[in-house]
Amino acid sequence: MSGIYIHIPFCHKACLYCDFHFSTNLKNKKKLVDAICKEISCRKSYLENDTIKSIYFGGGTPSLLSLSELEQILSIVHANFIVDKKAELTFELNPEDAELNYLKGIKRLGINRLSVGLQSFNDEELKWMNRAHDVQQNFDCIKIAQQGGFDNISIDLIYGSKFQTPDTWNKALQTAFGLNVQHISSYNLTVENRTQLNHLIKEKKEKEVDSEISSQLFDILMEETARNGCTQYEISNFCNPGYMAIHNSNYWRGLSYLGIGPSAHSYNGVSRRFNVRSNTQYIQAIENNKPFYEEEILTANDKYNEYILTRLRTQWGCDIKEIKTFFGEKYAAYFLNQLEAYKQKNLIDIKQNTVTLSKQGKHFADGIASDLFYTK
Ligand code: SF4
Repeated sequence: MSGIYIHIPFCHKACLYCDFHFSTNLKNKKKLVDAICKEISCRKSYLENDTIKSIYFGGGTPSLLSLSELEQILSIVHANFIVDKKAELTFELNPEDAELNYLKGIKRLGINRLSVGLQSFNDEELKWMNRAHDVQQNFDCIKIAQQGGFDNISIDLIYGSKFQTPDTWNKALQTAFGLNVQHISSYNLTVENRTQLNHLIKEKKEKEVDSEISSQLFDILMEETARNGCTQYEISNFCNPGYMAIHNSNYWRGLSYLGIGPSAHSYNGVSRRFNVRSNTQYIQAIENNKPFYEEEILTANDKYNEYILTRLRTQWGCDIKEIKTFFGEKYAAYFLNQLEAYKQKNLIDIKQNTVTLSKQGKHFADGIASDLFYTK
């Protein structure tokens, strides 16, 4: 069971908070699609003929692809990999690109899940984020997607900006539930180094994100999604019964995936590969059969740390028996020893052999995970 991630590195505009790799210059789009297709066929042995259970078009903005470009990429995938008939094919869609014929077209090509970047239901906030759409386009987009026959839709929402209070966030969530979508991914606004937001904060033109308010908003998110029957299967991901994202779940469970396109990462249990984070360098390297990625062979510590980092964020948690079997007694003993402090503070729950974060612990997921890392 493996997945393929395909990164489409183009966007209409640069969002204030974004540190993903993308370009707003679409001049090289055709060349890049050709390079992506060449990379797919070059790397067909990476997953060792494993059946593909999920394909994820992320970015950037995949909805900047034309139907023929999407068809070109998908036909190369099918020619080089065994794709399960029931595979999940997710496509990230930006609201400004929602058009009925386009959505019907991508559905015909096999896309069966949409991930829509709504982000907010406040026009002033969307403008501040430098998003390329407004609230009305958010509503229209979901309606058009549903008319187009999509019944597995995820939306992205950001919390923690200066525009939000517990009250407005609660209202935004009720609006989201009213859209009748099956999945919500909701992330706290974080200030990454390479972003315009970070630049403005440094120049004192914007304030830091208020972590206390963010923490209150996260509690509201967990409470309201639960009240609406959603499962929080990962810290930032919530779904109706039966709508867990296969692609994301497999990533958190440590299954292999092949990342295609500039800046994409790949993982096969033995090594990690990082494609070059530049459209021009990627195209040139692929065209000239030159290396376009760096590779890191994972040590025993890396594998254990990766397991802790990803699994602790999920509802499946870390399994003590699994740690013993996969990594050995040394790691299991270390894990159990480090857990003690968190057990006393009620930040983790232990049931039989499984360790998960408590509701309070979910506020400190990254810190707890890094304390459980083995670095000797
Ligand atoms: S948040 Fe999405 S749409 Fe905005 S710049 Fe980043 S990748 Fe592009």
